[in-house]
Amino acid sequence: MAGKKRRVRVANELPKTRRLAIKKALDEHESGGRPDWDRSSDWKDIRFLRKRIKTGEMRTVHMPLLDVDMGDSWPIPIIVFHGKRPGPVVTIIGATHGDELTGPSACTNLLSSKFTEPGGALDPQSMAGTVRIVPVLNLPGYRSKTRYFPDGRDLNRAFPGLAKGSTTSRVASMVKKNLIDDSDVIIDLHSAATGRSNMPQIRGDLSHPESYLLAKAFGIEVVLDSKPPKGSLRRVANQMDIAAVTYEGGGANRLEQTAVKVAVHGCLNVLKALKVIPKNPSRPRFRLNAGGSTWLRAGEGGLLDMFVGPGSIVTKGDVVATISDPGAPGLSVDIVAPENGLMICTATNPFVTAGTPVGHFLPVTKHIELLKTQMDDRGILIVNGSQGDAIWREEEEMVEIKVEGDWSGGSVDAEWNQINAEDTEQEEADS
Ligand SMILES: [Zn+2]
Repeated sequence: MAGKKRRVRVANELPKTRRLAIKKALDEHESGGRPDWDRSSDWKDIRFLRKRIKTGEMRTVHMPLLDVDMGDSWPIPIIVFHGKRPGPVVTIIGATHGDELTGPSACTNLLSSKFTEPGGALDPQSMAGTVRIVPVLNLPGYRSKTRYFPDGRDLNRAFPGLAKGSTTSRVASMVKKNLIDDSDVIIDLHSAATGRSNMPQIRGDLSHPESYLLAKAFGIEVVLDSKPPKGSLRRVANQMDIAAVTYEGGGANRLEQTAVKVAVHGCLNVLKALKVIPKNPSRPRFRLNAGGSTWLRAGEGGLLDMFVGPGSIVTKGDVVATISDPGAPGLSVDIVAPENGLMICTATNPFVTAGTPVGHFLPVTKHIELLKTQMDDRGILIVNGSQGDAIWREEEEMVEIKVEGDWSGGSVDAEWNQINAEDTEQEEADS
């Protein structure tokens, strides 16, 4: 890295017992240096799901989620990059929950020709190891715009799964066998569940050393130290001593470009940190390793007016939202920040009942001033990787295509309804 940057680290928001557990695990862990990733070791073509992938090649392989001869086996595309040199197997997964679109969009951007063309960041000719990108894991859920599999179950609670179990359990078993078991590193890309939106954040068990290193490598400010839920992909991976983290950004059924951009940036950071692709990873100025949080809940029912968003930095006593009820005119109730801290998730659904969670609040007792030095003019923490242009969007060789013809009915929307048709003359007179 060029020059010497002053590093400010915020890593002391975790409870002491947890800090000691993480330190102990890291001390006992022998980091780096896997003999099989040595440049001089044997490295050759691989087979993935019976398809041969040569070194220096990128290939799309379809994996059926169900092992059947009849009915839909739900084949999903997996894009495999097999590098020229030895290195880890990295699996990047989107849409374990079918309605969470940050992952599919981030994967699609990573797979744009901007990245994969010769000389691009993901050119397999300049890569080490093997990278597998799964844009949409829960394809049936994605197609029907839901979190769940068609049997109503949550794939991320079904691991390790059973080959002869429920539909979702069979899928989990297939995913484990083909995508988890031989991974060295897994990044699982998620969004908040429907009705709320997350600021970009990493979740990982920081007492699992390889996952801790992976969480750091992603290169963003907010890291939640959390034991993976029972049945989750992260949990089975960690149990097999595979590094795994969950990235959370944005909300279900929405496409929030900041969350997508940070996801792309973070995945590239991990690949750089692992030396799978060239260049140095980008580091945040500080990192919040959080060991606990509070959910702010509505005390009354009604319509919610949020004054803050995901990533808002708040001061103790700030009004973060107000609730009013059309049935009780003149009355309203404020929700205030209990401490100084960061809103890592906020509600997007205005309908609330007493008890509805409206915000996920991370108390930041120390260093709140440091957070404020990295805040935009709306009071939102600027996350590493969220700034600058989205490079996959660069408009090179712009082609302008002329489409000739007339607007059916007289104007662009005339056929949509009668009102537009009547406005036609007026519109054309104006323009
Ligand atoms: Zn999810």
